[in-house]
Amino acid sequence: MKKIPMRMCVNCQQMYPKKELIRIVKRASDGVIVIDKNGKISGKGAYICHNKECIRAVIKDNKLERHLGNKIPDEIYKELEELLIE
Ligand SMILES: [Zn+2]
Repeated sequence: MKKIPMRMCVNCQQMYPKKELIRIVKRASDGVIVIDKNGKISGKGAYICHNKECIRAVIKDNKLERHLGNKIPDEIYKELEELLIE
């Protein structure tokens, strides 16, 4: 059996398979905060599950900022808000 990498959602603290989470990463090469859609960008990451409550809480409470130690660009929040509409 292949081991599935698990990561914790920054809001609900539940463990999920890495692939099912939204990964926000502080890119190692330039320190820019981006949404990593393919899980290929190296850097310090924070994960959010697809639960709308979690996405909302993360936007509202600046949880990403605390996890990544950086100001989160507005575009990131906009992209997350778009996920709420889908
Ligand atoms: Zn969650």
